[in-house]
Amino acid sequence: MNSPVKTAVIGHPVGHSLSPLIHNHWIATYGLTGTYEAIDIPPDDLAAGVKKLIAEGYAGFNVTIPHKQAIMALCEDIDPTARAIGAVNTVAIKAGKLTGYNTDAYGFIENIRQQKPGFDFTAGPALILGAGGAARAVAYGLKQASVPEIFITNRTAEKSQKLAKELGLSALEWEKRNDALSNKNLLVNTTALGMNGQPPLKIDLSALPTTALVCDIVYKPLMTDLLTAATTRGHPVVKGLGMLLHQARPAFEYWFKTLPDVTPDLEQKLQEAAQ
Ligand code: NAP
Repeated sequence: MNSPVKTAVIGHPVGHSLSPLIHNHWIATYGLTGTYEAIDIPPDDLAAGVKKLIAEGYAGFNVTIPHKQAIMALCEDIDPTARAIGAVNTVAIKAGKLTGYNTDAYGFIENIRQQKPGFDFTAGPALILGAGGAARAVAYGLKQASVPEIFITNRTAEKSQKLAKELGLSALEWEKRNDALSNKNLLVNTTALGMNGQPPLKIDLSALPTTALVCDIVYKPLMTDLLTAATTRGHPVVKGLGMLLHQARPAFEYWFKTLPDVTPDLEQKLQEAAQ
């Protein structure tokens, strides 16, 4: 009998993570022998905590807040996508060596491709709200999907300007976000605004062409105020929970050598857990 493939998500805090539900669902669905746990590692203990996982024979792990950048220093190899995004969310361990990957850009784009198969990324410019860690992955994914021009706006202008310079985007002032909606083919919220417990996202969608796709990567609540307002105006919308599901697929494949599917029963389970 094969020894179980041991995997985990590391973070601090990590108890809220939905990743164990996703990966354990797939382990059971595909009849695999393996485990996926949530392991809390405080920032000061990262190197020692990872060393312990290697010693215990883990095949790899996901990385969440606050370790996505710090883990890079512990990786022997970092794949070009993770290097360009500047963060690692997935690690594979082979012969005691860590290889870092980032699957967030894939998750964001793949979710749109599955939810809106007819959507043409090349048909016009996109506007990204926010310039945090998730915005980097979204911007990278949109560039890979050949979006002709990507605009970015953020409360803290220095952060959007820095990201624009690094990834070849156009930075706009946060106060001009409403006017900036005219002629956009895609609007993505990557700020924490609109999330349960956070302030609302204040945006007037009047200038946005009604054919434009509106995405929110916030998934608590599942249907954010932005998505409700966009639906009322007749926009196609894509919810954030799908990105979480799709970013998990290549990670699972690195460890278990099976690319799993996002199925309605898994979506249902996750929606219930995310409420
Ligand atoms: P982060 O690095 O902390 O960035 C937070 C972003 O929100 C920054 O752009 C920040 O602007 C902005 N923001 C926060 N409070 C604001 C306010 N009061 N007014 C204006 N802007 C504000 O976080 P992150 O990792 O990018 O995550 C952002 C959101 O995406 C979270 O809700 C997270 O749960 C969600 N997310 C979802 C997925 C998924 O798979 N669906 C994946 C990753 C993240 P400043 O720079 O001005 O502070």
